Amino acid sequence: MAVIDLQGLLDGNRRALAKAITLIESKLPAHRQQSQEVLTEILPHSGNSIRIGITGVPGVGKSTFIEAFGLHLIEHGKRVAVLAVDPSSPLAGGSILGDKTRMEELSRREEAFIRPSPTEGALGGVAQKTRETLLLCEAAGYDVILVETVGVGQSEFQVAGMVDFFMVLMLPGGGDELQGIKKGIMELADALVINKADGPSEQLAETTRQHYQSAMRLLRQNSFWTPHVTTCSALDNINIDGVWDMIAEYEEQATAGGYFDEKRARQNSAWMHHLIDEMLHLKLFQHPVIKQRLPQLEQAVANRQTTAYAAALEVIDLL
Ligand code: GDP
Repeated sequence: MAVIDLQGLLDGNRRALAKAITLIESKLPAHRQQSQEVLTEILPHSGNSIRIGITGVPGVGKSTFIEAFGLHLIEHGKRVAVLAVDPSSPLAGGSILGDKTRMEELSRREEAFIRPSPTEGALGGVAQKTRETLLLCEAAGYDVILVETVGVGQSEFQVAGMVDFFMVLMLPGGGDELQGIKKGIMELADALVINKADGPSEQLAETTRQHYQSAMRLLRQNSFWTPHVTTCSALDNINIDGVWDMIAEYEEQATAGGYFDEKRARQNSAWMHHLIDEMLHLKLFQHPVIKQRLPQLEQAVANRQTTAYAAALEVIDLL
């Protein structure tokens, strides 16, 4: 059994927090059980933060932005945790977010906690570990949780499903496809932030902003919040405060309308259903009788001795 200093964690002790996260990331079944116990303990102390998702293609300026944004928040008395969802793909040859020195100044600050992406996760994958880490950070008193992801696979969708406010960082110029933005992501964005609005790119950033502003009006007309489109320069620290003001405005409106809690409840419920699906799937294919019968059924379906439907039904009945 790993020893977790719960009180230390709740008091904001970084070492206690780091240790609890390590426990959560452990693959040992005993640790898995223990981490669920820890999470149940801290759950009543979680939830008191604003969770902000940040995505964008490599090179758009995510780490530069998070550094500037995080330091801005600290100036305003906030404690900031930065988590990453980086589904390191074998194709990309490992980690995408983690292999360079990032957010140097922020990482030296006492008020900031930066945790690289878990490398893998069993049930629920990396997203599950990140969700749990997020709760621990909240219990440790971080007021703002930034969840960063680079768009690989489903990671942006997973992040959008675990945050209160989801923003897409973009580059001046270029359409969605050119910027590597996947279909469906725009519908999830609460804000598009066009970074690098400085020097020679300033005018182009403004043109891009106007273009997306009109495009976004057509989306999500049924929500209280029309996705905002704004520009900033993470490098020159331009309008970083404006981005925070926008998020604060969102939080205020969403809380007043009851939408804030409702969205979190919806996200938790959806995640539970996702986990049930995964667990069921796992259980099904680990079932000894099914494991034995499955190859025969595959053969029968291939030989047109039975229909796929009838075979599937037999498997479910065996469970
Ligand atoms: P990430 O891959 O999305 O994390 O992007 P980085 O933060 O590493 O930034 C990629 C490059 O863009 C770096 O060379 C940064 O210095 C540069 N960059 C980031 N933000 C800005 C900005 O606001 N303006 C300009 N001109 N360059 C920027």
